[in-house]
Amino acid sequence: MKNKIKANLPILRYMFMPIIYLIFSCSLAAGLLYILYNKADALYRTSKYDFITYSVDYFMYLKSLLNGDLIYVIIFTIISLCIYTIISYKKSKNIISLIENVEEMANGNLNNVIDLNDAGNIKKLANNINNIVAQLRNITIEERKAQQTKTDLITNVSHDLRTPLTSIIGYLSIIEDDKYKDEVQLRYYTSIAYEKAKTLNLLINDLFDLTKMQNNTMTLNTIQIDLVELLGQIASQSEYIFKNENVECRTKFSEDKLIIQADAIKLVRAFENLITNAIKYGKEGKYIDIVTKKEDNIAIVKIVNYGEPIPTIDLPHIFDRFYRVEKSRNRNDGGSGLGLAITKNIIELHEGHISVSSDYDCTIFEVQLKLDNI
Ligand code: ADP
Repeated sequence: MKNKIKANLPILRYMFMPIIYLIFSCSLAAGLLYILYNKADALYRTSKYDFITYSVDYFMYLKSLLNGDLIYVIIFTIISLCIYTIISYKKSKNIISLIENVEEMANGNLNNVIDLNDAGNIKKLANNINNIVAQLRNITIEERKAQQTKTDLITNVSHDLRTPLTSIIGYLSIIEDDKYKDEVQLRYYTSIAYEKAKTLNLLINDLFDLTKMQNNTMTLNTIQIDLVELLGQIASQSEYIFKNENVECRTKFSEDKLIIQADAIKLVRAFENLITNAIKYGKEGKYIDIVTKKEDNIAIVKIVNYGEPIPTIDLPHIFDRFYRVEKSRNRNDGGSGLGLAITKNIIELHEGHISVSSDYDCTIFEVQLKLDNI
């Protein structure tokens, strides 16, 4: 029962608010009238001013015309109505302003903000409407961004798929039309078409994986791994590439084992991406360092190269899919700009963190992964 009354209190308050305003206005008017009557009576008796005597005389004349006390009723009603209008004007003005603002929002102006000079429930309602509209505005912005990303993705994918495909069709049509000179040229054209087909295959697989990761449909087959051992294996397996590119790989591994729970295949792919990038874009620096460190319960891996720095303007976008630094875009080494996006997704799937810093001394890709509590 108590709760029922408590729940109905705001409703009752709203129902009776105008009546309370009216009672308050009438009481105030009655009080004022009483004070006015007494003051006028006292002044009439003592005043030396003609103005007051004339006014009171005129009032008495009006009173006699209007059947006695009816004049008091008229004055009382006028004063009450004036007070009631003053009190309820602000509230009504705010409600009208609220209705107009909401109508503008409903017509699509989501930048509109309701600003009321009021306190209490109407202000609360206005604030809640402002919050809902702000959320709607954010959702709309996010949706527009997602739409733009989709459009960009389709444009990039079409471009990146078309380039190798055009070469494949070109070389295969030379073969099909018997336009090659001899067996050697035939083999040469075939091998180019084959290489381009492999690039295409790689790109499609990368795209497929990235989409799966970003849609959260990729599962991890985690096992216990020693990160130091894993990096050592990757470094020794990449030895021939280091030699080919004339780069020395230096490893500075921590004494401690760095045991983590991870999907070995995916993690190898992430670190291979970072190491091949370090070779591809930093081989002029001659050295590549792979450093591991333990900090509290975090394993830190740094892949460092000493080549040309990544321009500061590109750093915030380096992990975006299809993003390539201007110079790299003009290189013809099969890069698609998906490598770092995939790497970041793999690290984040492992609840880790990846960051990059680059200046004229060196470029560092730092990966942080949670250590397994054994
Ligand atoms: P891709 O290598 O296919 O272009 P990535 O996503 O792996 O794509 O890299 C994006 C861009 O980041 C590259 O085009 C390159 O310009 C730059 N980059 C990546 N790694 C390095 C690095 N270690 N040193 C300098 N630049 C790098």
